[in-house]
Amino acid sequence: MAPTVVILGGAYGGLQIAHSLLKNNKEAKVVLVSKNSHFYWNLASVRAIVPGSVEDKQMFVSLTEALSRYPKERYEVIVGSAEGVDTAAKTVKVAIPGTAEPRSISYDQLVLATGSRNTQPEKRAGAGADEAIPATPWKADGTYEEITALLQATREKVKAAKHIVVAGGGSTGVEAAAELGYAFGGKSEDKGGKQIVLLSSGAEILGSDIIASSARNELNKLHVDVRTGAGVTAARTLPDGRIELTVAGASEPLITDLYLAAVGLTPNTEYLDASLLNDRKNVEVDEFYHVKGVASNDVWAVGDVVSKPRAGFVITMKQAGGVAKNVDLVLKGKSPQVVKLLPVDVMVVATGPSRGAGRLNSWRLPSLAVWVAKGRTLGLNMVAGYLNGSAA
Ligand SMILES: Cc1cc2nc3c(=O)[nH]c(=O)nc-3n(C[C@H](O)[C@H](O)[C@H](O)COP(=O)(O)OP(=O)(O)OC[C@H]3O[C@@H](n4cnc5c(N)ncnc54)[C@H](O)[C@@H]3O)c2cc1C
Repeated sequence: MAPTVVILGGAYGGLQIAHSLLKNNKEAKVVLVSKNSHFYWNLASVRAIVPGSVEDKQMFVSLTEALSRYPKERYEVIVGSAEGVDTAAKTVKVAIPGTAEPRSISYDQLVLATGSRNTQPEKRAGAGADEAIPATPWKADGTYEEITALLQATREKVKAAKHIVVAGGGSTGVEAAAELGYAFGGKSEDKGGKQIVLLSSGAEILGSDIIASSARNELNKLHVDVRTGAGVTAARTLPDGRIELTVAGASEPLITDLYLAAVGLTPNTEYLDASLLNDRKNVEVDEFYHVKGVASNDVWAVGDVVSKPRAGFVITMKQAGGVAKNVDLVLKGKSPQVVKLLPVDVMVVATGPSRGAGRLNSWRLPSLAVWVAKGRTLGLNMVAGYLNGSAA
C-alpha cells in the first residue's frame, strides 16, 4: 500500500511540502489537513485592511484547486482541525465541522505545519472590556469564511474611524500603521484623513533593531504618531462606541475609534502532547527537523510551530524545502539530510507601498531595495506559485 504522509496546516509550510511531495515522490499519498479551505497570503493583510487596496482573490488560494493538478488518488484535502496526535499508534484525530465524531487518520510520516495565531491581548474585567479588543486578520486564524469576513469587517471599521490606534511595535504593528498612514495620514478630515497612532511597549519600535530609527523616520513622514514605552494595559468600549485605552506612562486615557492589536504570536500546538513542547509552547526539532521526543523519527515540523531561529516566511520556505526532501528520502529508504537555512539574517519592513527599512545581517538596505523586495507588492506576485506548485 502507498505510504501516507499527513500534513497538518495548509499555509506556507504545509502547502509547499504537499506540492513538493506530489511532484517528486510518485508513491506517497498526501493528506493535507487544514482549518481553512484556502491558503492565506497573510503578509499582505496589513495592506488589505485599507479599503480598496487589495482584493481577497489576490490573497487566497483554494487548497483543493492547488492540488487538483495531481492525480486524484494521490492526495486528499481535509478541512478540519487537528485535535490530537498519537505518535505510538501513528494516528491524528481531526475534528471536521458538521460531523459529530472526530476522524482518525493513520500516517506513515507526519508533518506539523500548524503555524501560529495572533496573540490576543489579555481581556480585562469591567464593562465593555471584551468588545474593545477586536480580532485582527494578521494570521490564518479560523475558517476561510471567518478570515474573509474579518478582513471585510476590519476594512469597514477602518473606513468609519477618524482615529486609529495600532498597538504593537513589532513588524506587523509598524507595517499596519505605515499602510494606514500612507492612505490617511496628514490629510484633513474632509479629504478622508485619519489620525494614526502606533503604540510600542518597548523603548524603541522593532525591538530596538538597527533599522528601528529608519522605520521611525518613514513613519514620521507618513504622519504616524509613534509613542514608545506606551503599552496598552486596559481597553474598554465607552457608551458612545469609542474605545478607551489605558496606556503605560500616560496620565490620560487614550480615546480612539478603532484599536488594532499586533502584540505577538501564539503557536498553534495545543493538539500536541506537552512533552513535545518547550516552555514557549513551540515544537523542538533536531537538525533534520524531526520533532524531538518522537523516537520513531517519523514526525517533522516546520514554520511558526518551530519559530527557530524566529517565525518568518522565508525561514518557513527553507525549512519546508528541507523537510519535503527529507520525507521523500526516507520514503525511498535513504537517510535524511541536515536542513540548511539562509546563511544571512534578513529583516525587511515595508513602510507603506512606496518605501521601507531593512538590513542584511548588520548592513542597512536602502529604502528603494526594501520597496523592490517587499513593499511594492508585499509578495502578492508569489501567490500564484502556491496555486500552480512552482513555489515548491
Ligand atoms: C502581518 C504579517 C506579516 C508578515 N510578513 C513577513 C515577511 O515579510 N517576511 C517573513 O519572513 N515573515 C513574515 N511574517 C511571518 C509569516 O507570516 C509566518 O512566518 C508564516 O505565516 C509561517 O507559516 P506557517 O506555514 O508556519 O504557518 P501559518 O501561516 O501560521 O499557518 C498555519 C496554518 O495551519 C492551520 N492550522 C492551525 N491550527 C490547526 C490545527 N489544529 N489543525 C489543522 N490546521 C491548523 C491554520 O489555519 C493555517 O492555515 C509575517 C507575519 C505577519 C503576521
